[in-house]
Amino acid sequence: MADCLFCQIVAGTTPTKKIYEDEQVLAFDDINPQAPVHVLVIPTRHVVSLDDTQDSDAALLGQLMVVCAKIARERGLDVSGYRVVANTGREAGQTVFHLHLHVLGGRSFAWPPG
Ligand code: AMP
Ligand code: ZN
Repeated sequence: MADCLFCQIVAGTTPTKKIYEDEQVLAFDDINPQAPVHVLVIPTRHVVSLDDTQDSDAALLGQLMVVCAKIARERGLDVSGYRVVANTGREAGQTVFHLHLHVLGGRSFAWPPG
């Protein structure tokens, strides 16, 4: 989608430092990090949110989670722990309407989330 920020990152028209890339998944550092490690993991295809997925997206969603775990291990978070978040819809705080998983780590997190 031409007017989608994360589609522009996939296309390379908005620059970002890519951390991981395969046919289905792209990962890059969040521009406004909320923790020492804050990586976004997105599908290369435009998907609005988790609410925009169905049974046929199971493999894609699995790959997104596997990449989250891979990046967390690479950043040394596997021992200390980390959080994976998918804000879904406005009330949950979603601001970019292209599905993304936040991988957050390197500090302690409160529960429940605010
Ligand atoms: P959400 O609020 O869950 O939709 O998360 C959107 C995230 O995208 C926020 O954490 C933003 O800081 C991040 N973001 C916005 N623009 C960019 C960009 N150009 N590069 C990297 N991350 C971005
Ligand atoms: Zn998009």
